[in-house]
Amino acid sequence: MILTITMNPSIDISYPLEAFKLDTVNRVKNVCKTAGGKGLNVTRILKQLNTEVVASGLIGGTLGEEIKKDLDRNGIAHDFLPISGETRNCIAILHDGQQTEILESGPKVSAQEAEAFLKHFEKLAAQAEIISISGSLPEGLPVDFYRQMMQVHHEKPVVLDCSGEALAEVLKGDVKPSLIKPNAEELAGLLGCSISTNVDDLKNTLSDAMFSGIEWIVVSLGSAGAFAKHHDKFYRVTIPKIAVVNPVGSGDATVAGLTAAIAEAWSAEAILKQGNVLGMLNAQEATTGQVELANYQALFDQIQVEEV
Ligand code: ADP
Repeated sequence: MILTITMNPSIDISYPLEAFKLDTVNRVKNVCKTAGGKGLNVTRILKQLNTEVVASGLIGGTLGEEIKKDLDRNGIAHDFLPISGETRNCIAILHDGQQTEILESGPKVSAQEAEAFLKHFEKLAAQAEIISISGSLPEGLPVDFYRQMMQVHHEKPVVLDCSGEALAEVLKGDVKPSLIKPNAEELAGLLGCSISTNVDDLKNTLSDAMFSGIEWIVVSLGSAGAFAKHHDKFYRVTIPKIAVVNPVGSGDATVAGLTAAIAEAWSAEAILKQGNVLGMLNAQEATTGQVELANYQALFDQIQVEEV
């Protein structure tokens, strides 16, 4: 079983408007509401890949119940820890070819709830083959909370997709994730300087002591594919040009593809190909976290992975 963790899930609401008028009433007909948050995007892709997946994290209140119902409707197993705060809404207003987002920060988690989650997580991690942790931490949890989670379960490989201080804290810890997937911007944020994406510079960057002990570092580069370090080998992943509809969540789809392939002990090359295929398939759809698997093999065959 693959365990996915979403600590601050949301009900994602999209409001498509012809035009967005400020300081007056905007009426909207085709409202779409889905369970969201990076970890739940990963979960949905894993489900479509037919893997056995269980979603966990923190949920609360009536919107928390809505998330459970949404997952039930999609046949996705879940085991969230209930908390007293209310799960958040995240609103995307699609207008004039643009996307204006209003993101609630979400509930404030108490110290007792944090403690209870670590126990809940320990129990679930024991049953998992691999764990995928994605997204930011809700208010109230300490910045080293993911590091604490890494220390809880010890044995299981963890694919971690977070950024900023939460990621920096994990990298300082003794128990390392098996894979991290920063994009170029997140990598620059981590290093505190701008980065160049040419091969030699990326090789240098990923050889930084801060990454030692991490088996896989996959830097996703949007339409330019990806660059990866696996143990002491470096790979450049070149992808074909595709017609992009909505690339939001492509990084999450990539994480799902990488996680499923690692769980099945695929070769390094196949792991990287599957990660990129899923990112591209997500970018070709309007709905985040939904992919057309009929196009999988054609894309897989066009991706080049070369050791550099
Ligand atoms: P994130 O969403 O985390 O910023 P990326 O934008 O790098 O991640 O996307 C992850 C992967 O999805 C890329 O490595 C690539 O395979 C695919 N992808 C994303 N955007 C595009 C695009 N515009 N064209 C082709 N593939 C894309």
